[in-house]
Amino acid sequence: MQNKIHVRKNDTVMVISGKDKGKIGEVLSVFPKHNKVLVKDVNVVTKHQKPSKENMQGGLIQKEAPIYSAKVMLYCTKCKSVTRISHKLLDDGTKVRICKKCGETF
Ligand SMILES: [Zn+2]
Repeated sequence: MQNKIHVRKNDTVMVISGKDKGKIGEVLSVFPKHNKVLVKDVNVVTKHQKPSKENMQGGLIQKEAPIYSAKVMLYCTKCKSVTRISHKLLDDGTKVRICKKCGETF
């Protein structure tokens, strides 16, 4: 069974806890199985890269690591704040998510 994650790829979210609290970033990918999301420039960790043909020395690379989806909230770029969303069914049957504060659709 897959967990339901409240944000989707390309959503803008704000981190609400942890060392990156307050950071705003774009969701790069979601991992429903692990209940985690990957957010641009959030939870950046330094990884060691093994030496390769292109890079004989190997080295350190900076890369985002996934964080628990519960640590992020959807950020409305219109209200400029975190928001809750509600779902709305359009006349043609399409389900859209709207910002509860300003009505912006996501
Ligand atoms: Zn809004």
